[in-house]
Amino acid sequence: MKPAPFTRHVPKTLDEAVRMLAEFAPQDGRILAGGQSLVPIMAFRLAKPAHLVDINEIAGLDRLDVENGTLRIGALVRHAAFHKPVIANPLGALLSAVAKHIAHYPIRTRGTFCGSIAHADPSSEWCLVAATLDATIIAKSVRGERAIVARDFFEGLMSTALAEDELLAEVRLPLLAPDARFGFQEFSRRAGDFAMTAALVTWRPDNGVMRDARVGLAGAEASPRRIPEAEAALEGMAPDGALFRAAAEAAANAIEPLVDHQTNAEYRRDLVRAMVRRALEQSAQ
Ligand SMILES: Cc1cc2nc3c(=O)[nH]c(=O)nc-3n(C[C@H](O)[C@H](O)[C@H](O)COP(=O)(O)OP(=O)(O)OC[C@H]3O[C@@H](n4cnc5c(N)ncnc54)[C@H](O)[C@@H]3O)c2cc1C
Repeated sequence: MKPAPFTRHVPKTLDEAVRMLAEFAPQDGRILAGGQSLVPIMAFRLAKPAHLVDINEIAGLDRLDVENGTLRIGALVRHAAFHKPVIANPLGALLSAVAKHIAHYPIRTRGTFCGSIAHADPSSEWCLVAATLDATIIAKSVRGERAIVARDFFEGLMSTALAEDELLAEVRLPLLAPDARFGFQEFSRRAGDFAMTAALVTWRPDNGVMRDARVGLAGAEASPRRIPEAEAALEGMAPDGALFRAAAEAAANAIEPLVDHQTNAEYRRDLVRAMVRRALEQSAQ
């Protein structure tokens, strides 16, 4: 199908973009970034925005740099920018390991990191990274700028704390400890499909035990989030197979499973159990 008629606006600056968004948001005006989620939805007429504010010609929105111990990812940084590690810190390798699981190569050359965060699909790999690493999301509007922490940002199924007139300008990810370990695992029916469940874990070794353990899940519940029950099971413990199985069990028991046409609650718990255990095993190799 073809989209319903719309007008495309092409601001050259961020200020112009937020002014346009303030004007058009009340008429279901939307930001157009990579278009890899919005355009298919419009083609199916599941969304019929009368106005699109296309941010692709705004200079500087493709910034990707380190400042004050955080990696700053601008609104026009594409998924493909992460194919190779963008920094020597383990965060670079983590982002690179995750990026190749997102959709297919052509989609990754257009789709943006920040577009994924704004879209907030429960299975999104970047939303999982943002939730697990406690990202800060920078929103801009004609009213100014505000910073939103990831745990307050993801509000439910494809629902976020962004107001309709706010543009997601940047995501800030804290760098990991130089000796940090990570593991990422996802299960999908075919390569390139959205994950039915994905798990991300990070920790740092300290005299033979695990410190600062983080366990995040996507595709398991309505929004990606950290699982404190699994993290508590790992903290201060020596990494081994029995511990990883116990933490995976804790994660499976902690979730309120997302149930859809593919997956019942028990199968989703099984996926969580397997993905968390495998991610932990990978992190310890
Ligand atoms: C076949 C296929 C497979 C896919 N598989 C995966 C997958 O496995 N994992 C995954 O995570 N994604 C997947 N995607 C989605 C893809 O990653 C998109 O690129 C991403 O979800 C949205 O990024 P975008 O830049 O394309 O956003 P757009 O499509 O341009 O926008 C998506 C939504 O976010 C809003 N938005 C975008 N940027 C901003 C901003 N800066 N501020 C405010 N609002 C904004 C738009 O208004 C719109 O509502 C897939 C897509 C396709 C077509």
